[in-house]
Amino acid sequence: MIHMIAMMLEDKTAIITGASTGIGKAIAERYVAEGANVVIADINDENGKQTAEELDCTYMHCDVSAYEEVESVVEQTVDEYGSLDVIVNNAGIGADNDLANMDDEEWSQVMAINLTGVKNGAKAALPHLEETEGTIINIASIYGLVAGPSATAYATAKGGVVNFTRSVAVDYADQQVRCNAICPGFVETPMTEAMLEDESFYHFVQDETPMDRVAQPEEIAGLAAFLASDDASYITGAAIPVDGGWTAH
Ligand code: NAD
Repeated sequence: MIHMIAMMLEDKTAIITGASTGIGKAIAERYVAEGANVVIADINDENGKQTAEELDCTYMHCDVSAYEEVESVVEQTVDEYGSLDVIVNNAGIGADNDLANMDDEEWSQVMAINLTGVKNGAKAALPHLEETEGTIINIASIYGLVAGPSATAYATAKGGVVNFTRSVAVDYADQQVRCNAICPGFVETPMTEAMLEDESFYHFVQDETPMDRVAQPEEIAGLAAFLASDDASYITGAAIPVDGGWTAH
């Protein structure tokens, strides 16, 4: 007898923001492998188009900090695929500064992309997710759960993402829209490349991580696939660390 193993996300349509590179790209690749229609929404057109071609999915230009642009991506996706089941609010920027050395412009940009960008994605997708009993996945960080050195703006925005996630989960549970956050530890991506090349910084990360290493983007994508699948049907409002034990001690 042949047992067929069903794909986790067959016939689902997902938008993933910031999926040209890094964690978002790994999520896009996994979603495609699990049978989903995937739309990559990114600000970097060159990388975005190349990744979409590589993964056999669709690319749409979008700055997540501009609500109208996010709304337009959601509308185009629904026009093209008929419905929307998942939005992964992944786009984000790094910011390395303590309070004394941070200017207001940097603070505002981090809030606009890392926090308001998540709100924009969730809000624009919500009416369509109510129709499909769909799901919102927000990529926060360990720095949404604890603080770290020289990360004031970043950790403030990510802490906001975690509690935004809980608020949306509470308000839309009745409509069967689930909303969860993934909180990665340090992951090898273009965002962290330069930081992790610095030996003393890499040692700091190792010291803080019981598993003694950074993550690969694919190790975040597994949870993103699970949370989008029907297997996660009773999980909402969670902020789940994928951090090699960073926040366990
Ligand atoms: P990355 O820099 O490799 O990729 C980020 C992507 O977002 C890029 O494709 C970029 O073009 C896009 N982007 C940037 N600003 C945008 C905007 N305004 N609108 C649309 N797209 C935009 O980063 P990554 O490491 O893959 O990070 C992805 C997410 O994971 C971010 O939210 C980040 O904060 C979070 N995260 C990363 C790590 C890590 O160690 N890499 C750890 C925890 C959380």
